[in-house]
Amino acid sequence: MVKTEIPYWIRRGMIRFLWFPGGAGGYGVTASTPSSIEEAVKYATDCKANLIAVGPPFLRMWGETKGVIADRLKEFVSKCHKHGIRVMIRLCFATAYGPILLKEHPEALKWVQRTRKGSIYCMYHVPFRFNGCPCNPDWINYLKKIAKSAIDNGVDAIYWDNASWRVWEGACYCHHCKEKFREYSKKKIGREYEIPPYPERGVGVKWNDPIWQTYIKFHYDAMTKALKEVNDYTKSLEPGVATSWNLNPPGDALHGNRFTQLKAFDYFLLEAGYNFPGMEYISPITGEEESAKPRPVYNVVNYKYALSAGMDKAFINFIYHPEPKTEPPSITPPPNQVRLGIAEAAIYGGAISVPALPPKTTPVKEVSVWNGMIEEGGVGPDYYVFEFICKHPEELQRLLATHSLDDVYEALSREHGLRYAQAFSSYYKFLERHQEYYSGEVEPLVDATLLYSLPTQDWYRSDRREPLYGYAFLGFVQALLDSYVQFNIVDDESLSQDLSSCKTLILPDVACMSDQQVEAIKKFVENGGGVVATGCTSPYNENYRKRPDFGLAELFGMKYGHKPPNESRREVGRGRVIFLAGGLDKEYWKEAGEEGLEKLVDAVRWASREPPVVEPISPCVKPLQTVHLHVFKQRKRVLSHLINYNRNEETDEPMAVKDLAFRIRVSEEVKRVFAISPDFEGAEELTYETSKVKKKTYVQFVVPKLEIYSLVVIETKP
Ligand SMILES: [Zn+2]
Repeated sequence: MVKTEIPYWIRRGMIRFLWFPGGAGGYGVTASTPSSIEEAVKYATDCKANLIAVGPPFLRMWGETKGVIADRLKEFVSKCHKHGIRVMIRLCFATAYGPILLKEHPEALKWVQRTRKGSIYCMYHVPFRFNGCPCNPDWINYLKKIAKSAIDNGVDAIYWDNASWRVWEGACYCHHCKEKFREYSKKKIGREYEIPPYPERGVGVKWNDPIWQTYIKFHYDAMTKALKEVNDYTKSLEPGVATSWNLNPPGDALHGNRFTQLKAFDYFLLEAGYNFPGMEYISPITGEEESAKPRPVYNVVNYKYALSAGMDKAFINFIYHPEPKTEPPSITPPPNQVRLGIAEAAIYGGAISVPALPPKTTPVKEVSVWNGMIEEGGVGPDYYVFEFICKHPEELQRLLATHSLDDVYEALSREHGLRYAQAFSSYYKFLERHQEYYSGEVEPLVDATLLYSLPTQDWYRSDRREPLYGYAFLGFVQALLDSYVQFNIVDDESLSQDLSSCKTLILPDVACMSDQQVEAIKKFVENGGGVVATGCTSPYNENYRKRPDFGLAELFGMKYGHKPPNESRREVGRGRVIFLAGGLDKEYWKEAGEEGLEKLVDAVRWASREPPVVEPISPCVKPLQTVHLHVFKQRKRVLSHLINYNRNEETDEPMAVKDLAFRIRVSEEVKRVFAISPDFEGAEELTYETSKVKKKTYVQFVVPKLEIYSLVVIETKP
């Protein structure tokens, strides 16, 4: 393995990111004419960005993009460097635009993924959207060649997109995969097996079948190996280049997105973000609304998960602002949502990106975003312009009477580009000035720790066709956020290794658990830890095989299958265990009732025993309230990040919240409390009082006004 240091400029809290071409503010910058390179660099400078992404058009591979950007990249990179801006290039790890790939490499027909019947697998049923197979050595060599040409052009960072080997759409049945799976199954379960058939849309899969499970694990392992091989090669050419790949939502196990795959990389991409109100309440399976209201959960879940499982690496999250019932299906968030998204990610040390764009050259009335990208390669103004055209066809007609289509596009995209530039620069200027609060060592201060269990997601939730993270987990997270209970998220690996830093462990419907984990949890409670378990926790082992009883039956004080009381509270050893038998957390996700919220939060408080990190004082706390608070500890200070999700959806204007009062636990004497924000100038000194609760010191303060985002810094004496 090639060992290299993570370049300092890509570490947590350092990135101020912009996506070119297009995305928010990329007003038609193509880098294909001299003036547009200048314009691109000026735009990035105006936005105060320090890292920008470029890439060959959607689906196309590096080396197949002559005349678009490939032959101007060196010049582009050098002009960016003159302004202190680094350049990241997006490359595809699997997807390839079939016709171009085959024209340049006729032999590539042998490199791509095959269906069971032997035909070429086209992703999302999009014709020509071929996928290289990660088990095919020729494809891997091709990827290495692409990486080399990017490095030769002087890029600072590489981002691999579309590591698409999608087990839920049908496995790859090429001869490399078949042969490798035979070897793998022999090694893992003692016999050579063929790749199991994949039923239509995953219905009828036996999720506890050892052969199917072995195939899924093969999938993870083969992808990990392929990513590592290409990455090691890249690093051997240029150790200083920063590398990453798109994990999609990292909790989505069947994407094959494991944090273990991240070990070799310097930073990572998430394609997990939906701005509030977003799509998170829409079922990915039925397309129906599933919860009471749109909830600002997904980004926070992913960031918290990334913080613990992501080994402190920085991330860039793709933010969509979807209107699922309309075409195009996803659009660039409006400028104030971009501001909110930047703040949300910065709190957790990361950055955001916004989606790519439809082409300028495609006739407007025929544009469908995805087809447009495929046909024309996606160079043009951003979604926002496109959205304007979709929403105001008459206005467009009127403009077209006196102007050419190109001029209209140009004018609209410039206008919107400017609005985005203001959004970016106001927040990026703030982050640059106050970098010390976002980079370096920052630790979340938590009351509780949630377990995110991959075996439960892989087998148990897949079997029930629950969405990513599952209803119980999402409901519990929402309840904690709505009540200002501070928490972090850990994965199975950290649970098996070390529970010493955890005070209260929440197990929301964690069905699958290894014997080792069961023992670790028992020991944790004996030693004084608190446990809150809900629903169907621990009746299965990590391979989704049923136990005769709950693994944690001793702690719950009840047997599996007996009609349980709704709740059991017990003191075990020096610790406390509370088991909520029903689906309170699932119900909270769907209904958001006040009573359910109280019960969930009360359970955490009871199990914790410790006084909480945050006590909200002002009456702003009610279910579905939309101010969130995230508390972190840094040397000599406590950082309280406040985000306000209340907004006027018509105008995109934030609805400010006034007089927010909190009491926050601190371990040292308080020296000064002040608020800073990209929404106002300077620092605002806050008056504060300190008090003692159960031997803990609390500081109480009032934030007079919260627009979108404020940071309250509590400086303590050493
Ligand atoms: Zn294959």
